This record gives sequence, C-alpha cells and structure tokens, in this order.
Amino acid sequence: MSIFDKFDHLRQTYDSLGDRAHNPFSVSFDRIESATEGVLGGRRVILLGTNNYLGLTFDQHGIDEAVRAVQTLGTGTTGSRVANGSYAGHGALERDLAAFFGRRHCMVFSTGYQANLGMLSTIVGRGDHLILDSDSHASIYDGARLGHAEVIRFRHSDPDDLYKRLRRLKDVPGSKLIVAEGIYSMLGDVAPLREIAAVKREMGAYLMVDEAHSMGVLGEHGRGLAEAAGVEADVDFIVGTFSKSLGSVGGFCVADLDGFDILRVACRPYMFTASLPPSIIASTRSALQRLDRDKGLRTQLMANATQLHGGLRALGLEVGPHISPVVSVALDEPEVAVRFWNALVEGGVYLNLALPPATPSSRPLLRASVSAAHSPRQIQKAVDLFGEIGRELGILPAEPFVELP
Ligand code: PMP
Repeated sequence: MSIFDKFDHLRQTYDSLGDRAHNPFSVSFDRIESATEGVLGGRRVILLGTNNYLGLTFDQHGIDEAVRAVQTLGTGTTGSRVANGSYAGHGALERDLAAFFGRRHCMVFSTGYQANLGMLSTIVGRGDHLILDSDSHASIYDGARLGHAEVIRFRHSDPDDLYKRLRRLKDVPGSKLIVAEGIYSMLGDVAPLREIAAVKREMGAYLMVDEAHSMGVLGEHGRGLAEAAGVEADVDFIVGTFSKSLGSVGGFCVADLDGFDILRVACRPYMFTASLPPSIIASTRSALQRLDRDKGLRTQLMANATQLHGGLRALGLEVGPHISPVVSVALDEPEVAVRFWNALVEGGVYLNLALPPATPSSRPLLRASVSAAHSPRQIQKAVDLFGEIGRELGILPAEPFVELP
C-alpha cells in the first residue's frame, strides 16, 4: 500500500512510454539554440511544439531589456504585490496592456493558469453560474472548481447549445458568465465568437474570452479573436498569457467594467503568490511593443501556418478544421502515435504528443505549433518527415496522396 496507489492507471501509460528512445512526457533539451532550433538527446531538432508564435524568445531588444532589469532591480520580487508592494514595471505593464486592448483595467498574474484560476474563482460565486465550453483548458476548469459558482458546460463551439442552456437559466437570479477561448489549444480551431456574443447579448450574460493562443495571432492589431470577429464591445473580460506570443511567462486580465480594481484584494491567486520578476516584466513589455508594431510577424506566422496545414492535409493526414498556428494531426491508435512521435524526434522535428483522454474526441494528437520565426524550409522538412513516417507506419499510402480534381 502506497500513497501513490491511486495513480496506478497513469503509471501504466507513463511507464510504457519509457520503452522507446524518447518519452514524450519527460523531454529534456540539451540546449535551445534559437526560437526554432534545439538539441535533444544529442540530435538537432526543429522546435515545432513551443507555442512561440512570434518567435520573440530571442528578440534582442527583449533580451537587452531583461538583462538591464535584472542588473538594476535584482532577480526577483520575493513576494506578492499585496504584501511586498509592486515595482514600477508591474503597473507600467498593466497600463501597456490596458492601452493595447483599449480597456480601462488590467491585472497581471504570475502565470496565465493563475489568471484563469483567479478570475473564475473570484468574479462569480455562490448563486452565480459559469457556462463553460466543454473543451475548455484545464486552468478554466480548475478556476471553476476553486470557486463556488454552479458550473454548466455547453457543447464545444456550439452557440445553439449555449443558447439552450442559458434559456433554462433565464429566470434564475445571479450573474452568468460564459467562457470561451479564441483558438483552442489542441486542434487550433477558432471559436464562433460572433454567434456566442449574440447569445450573450440576448441572454444578458457576461462573456470572458481566453486569448492565450490568439493574442498576437488574430486581428489586424493582434488583439485576438474578439478583434478579428469585431465583437470586442461584447467581451467583458479578456484573459491571456505572456507564455506564448510574448515569449516569457505570466498572465493577465483586461476589462472595462467599473469596480474591477476590488479584485486586487479579493482574488487569492493574485494576492497569495510572488509577483513576476523585473526581467520578465521588462521582456514582456518589449515583446508587446514589437507585437503591436510589427504586423509582418503575423503575416509570416499565418503564411507558415498555411504551409504546414496545407502540406499535411495534402499528404492525406487529418488536420484541424481551421488554418491556425496550432496544427494537429489526429491519429487513431495511441501506440501508433507514440511511435510516430518518436520517429519525428529521431528525424529532427520536435512537437507535442497529446494522448487521450485529455484530447477532443479522445484521439491521440501530434500537435505542432508554428512560429513566425520558422523558415519555409523548416516547415517543408517537417511536412516531408511526416510523409515519410506516415508511409513507413502504414498510415499513408505508399505514394504521396494526390487529390483528384
Ligand atoms: N489558457 C489556455 C487556453 C492555455 O492553453 C494555457 C497554456 N497552455 C493557459 C491558459 C495557461 O497559460 P500559462 O502557460 O501562462 O500558465
């Protein structure tokens, strides 16, 4: 009898993954050389699974700003903003983000996970309802569990189902908060936000959108799906992360509602954890400026996404429904997916493996995330390798699949 017996079901899968050259859940890079290249197990790999959408982790201005901050302000804040006080950079970053999104309020959290945990456990409570897309990220589910609102799920990206569920609550008192994501992280599909916003308006609910994977990616100015869909006025809360297009770590929520500032003394995942270190604040502010200024990054990113999505689909592989920087190949057998993933790493391409049950439709996924920093050659190499391995494993026909007119 061990305290870990309850994990026996996980243990089996976890141990079986260790039989191969690389264990997808224990990857440790020897070196990271750039936004798109690293060394793994002595082998050079293209980094195609990092969410580094704009490739800003090696942006020279961001690095210089971070170095300057660490030299002048030290390595960390060693406490929360409520207890230890804020540094000037925390407020400045909040003002930058509020201005970027055209909102009056912003709160910065130590991770995007904590932004969801904090917002969802605090702004709705007993007597309120949280209406979540069924494919919501773990941080959204965990925020719901930490709080006291009643949780209802609607079918993934289905505004009719959302409408039905809200209609049943029509005469129930309390606030109702709908939560959707801009781009869903597993299949890269884009939420039908215009339709969701219409339901929200009709039913008098609040709407929160997690733009973790869509900030810097969608919208003319990179403000995400709410901007691209033209519904920013209907979105009451935008949550996001610094760990993807901004290339660092941290999270935020922006809003325009009066009274938002009370969250600084009510939101426990904001209050009871150390604030972001000055170097992170500095590189994030630099990345936000670049994201705002350099539209070419988004153009390049979408060109790369189109190349990968189109290339994999032309091979005959099953990819997600929308062209976005998250490009996932759905397979049927977890065992085949593990072999496929190992062969990709051996061949010089690193991406993510997602295994059921934590995947849409409980299918294994080879999940790639494209960066603006990838070259067309790197993307082509990945497509070619997918083709080779797919044929070797018998998933693809011996010759490349050619679509008939
Ligand atoms: N929301 C979504 C949709 C995400 O995919 C993630 C991270 N994968 C997060 C929130 C959490 O972000 P962070 O990495 O900053 O904790």
